[in-house]
Amino acid sequence: MKAAEIRADLVPTLLAHSRLFQGVDLASLDAELRDSCVLSIDAGQVLLDPKHINTNIYLVLSGELLVCLEPKIGHPLVRLGAGDCVGELSIIDASAPSAYVVASMPSQLLVISKPVLWRMLAVQQVMALNLLHVLARRIRENNTVLLGSLELQRQYRNKAETDALTGLHNRAWFEEVFPKQLDLCERTGQHVSLLMVDIDHFKKVNDEYGHTCGDEALRHMGDLLRRNLRSTDLCARYGGEEMIVLMPGTEIIHAQLTADRLRESVADTPLHLQDGRELTIQISGGIAQWQPGTALNDLIRSADQALYRAKEGGRNRIAVHALPTPMDFS
Ligand code: GH3
Ligand code: MG
Ligand code: MG
Repeated sequence: MKAAEIRADLVPTLLAHSRLFQGVDLASLDAELRDSCVLSIDAGQVLLDPKHINTNIYLVLSGELLVCLEPKIGHPLVRLGAGDCVGELSIIDASAPSAYVVASMPSQLLVISKPVLWRMLAVQQVMALNLLHVLARRIRENNTVLLGSLELQRQYRNKAETDALTGLHNRAWFEEVFPKQLDLCERTGQHVSLLMVDIDHFKKVNDEYGHTCGDEALRHMGDLLRRNLRSTDLCARYGGEEMIVLMPGTEIIHAQLTADRLRESVADTPLHLQDGRELTIQISGGIAQWQPGTALNDLIRSADQALYRAKEGGRNRIAVHALPTPMDFS
């Protein structure tokens, strides 16, 4: 960066497009403008960085500056062209800037130090109003950047919690959410039931129809789960062709009815494959009723044992864990 000479008669033209100097009588600021210098900065050079307190406001006379999260050109948060200024926030609160400001091309900047800026504001009060406009615009730009990054975060989180094939929640999600739901049910004294569902003879489906059709069947299964469960039921793909459903506020007898309705719906809803064939799948399920103090893993183990019994009992059925008189629905 080096101080540059700029012809005094060019300054009014260069400032004419600047928001900060709009409506300002430049003649009355002659002495202050002479106290300000012009700086030349090459492409890639860092003007402001978060490690150093800033004491100037910089007005872009020519070229372009980028506001970036890293001290190099690339992925700018904001681009600043001729007439824009930078440094106005950090000069006011005497703090380091929150991001890097880097030149994307050779640029010329009018450097106004804090004392000079204060003198200018005293002489030309319209400049104070202009500065408020500049600050308001900067805050809005920052808000836009912030909202954009929050939206990205939401999308990444959504991706991290969703099973890409079925669109159901994935294991990472239920391992975080189910224990919290059990805590809540414990505090509010609600019943909870857990259902484990497994597609019957799914290996055969893959063998006979191919893996792609098997994938279609899993998506179909996801749709049927969404259609047959209540909005308060929490459902996820447990792994492979197994799904897990936590039903808060549901006694085991009602969970059994829901699970059996789901089982019937799966068996009665053939999937029309893309190649024109029809494929009907069947499921088995195991249900366990949660008892206060029971850990999620133990609850899953109980439902899994019931599922095993449903398989042993002939499949296409729902079995219940640990009722005094175990009941099978088929
Ligand atoms: P059972 O009735 O005892 O449950 O028999 P099964 O054949 O369904 O059970 P098994 O555990 O032997 O086979 C499960 C199959 O599920 C094997 C595996 O290839 C298939 N599978 C698991 N995940 C996927 C997937 O994402 N897509 C497809 N197409 N198949 C999958
Ligand atoms: Mg299976
Ligand atoms: Mg299985």
